Amino acid sequence: MTNNRRDFIQKSFQLTGLAYFKVPFSFTKEHFINPNSNRLVLLGTQGGPFIRSYKQTPSANLVVYKNTAFVIDAGYGVTLKLREAGISLPSLKYIFITHHHSDHNLELGPLLYNTWLSGLSEPIHVYAPAGLKNLLHHYWESNRFDIDTRIRDEGRPDIRSLVISHEYSAGIVLAESDFQVSALSNIHPPIKDSFALKFNLGEKIVVFSGDTAYCPALAPFASGADYLVHEVMYGPAIENMLKRRPNASKLKESIMSHHTLAEDVGKIAKQANVKNLILNHFVPPDDITLTDQLWIDIVRKTFSGNIIVGKDLQQFLL
Ligand SMILES: [Zn+2]
Ligand SMILES: [Zn+2]
Repeated sequence: MTNNRRDFIQKSFQLTGLAYFKVPFSFTKEHFINPNSNRLVLLGTQGGPFIRSYKQTPSANLVVYKNTAFVIDAGYGVTLKLREAGISLPSLKYIFITHHHSDHNLELGPLLYNTWLSGLSEPIHVYAPAGLKNLLHHYWESNRFDIDTRIRDEGRPDIRSLVISHEYSAGIVLAESDFQVSALSNIHPPIKDSFALKFNLGEKIVVFSGDTAYCPALAPFASGADYLVHEVMYGPAIENMLKRRPNASKLKESIMSHHTLAEDVGKIAKQANVKNLILNHFVPPDDITLTDQLWIDIVRKTFSGNIIVGKDLQQFLL
């Protein structure tokens, strides 16, 4: 990159309020996308709640459209991954949570907290199923001493009034003149309030399945999507995974009830006629015998379009 080009990008970021784009360690030249472009970035692609490595962290995604950043799910690791994706935290305006499982919301409070400590001065809107207000109330309470101290001692605005919480249900979640976000109830027993989310961004459509068992209603919901980001499970590996877990029988019942087999993910993508299918939230998450090619081969049985095995910090032009 020439100095002039670098200066141009730096100035563009200063104008838009997003951070100066420093190519993160995980981005290679092929992954470079002009930071002013509309884009989808996978921040965390691991299925399941506990941390194994920084390379693959629990659920989180980023959409940047017209220089507005949307975060979808806030699993553990989301804050640092956003920084690596070149996002200035105080520029965040919208966060969406698909359901209240910890691998999707554990870092919501700390993300908001870091956004505040980085200089948040404008309201930030959080959209999540019922339970959000209670969750945030107790989070603020657990940090009351620090919040009150920093307001008094450092002259910061009150984070509790800067964060606007919205508890959504199925249907239109947010509609603005140039974009719309809508929710579809998916299948995630015993959790009732669990959703797939669709982002209509001008001509582009991005859909996130959330965590769900095979959900035929997702096909019409995701019809014609440019990107369907779908969770995925490889059935034959579940028995092996259970041998590594102490709570095996209960866990198997739980996993099978609210995740989608790879073959069925392909069926949804085919019925929806999506342009690109991105696999994420891999179950099991820790089986090194499951290669990218294996995931592609099994989904290919039911979907002939473009299949991407998602990686943290992989990004796609919108
Ligand atoms: Zn999950
Ligand atoms: Zn879940």
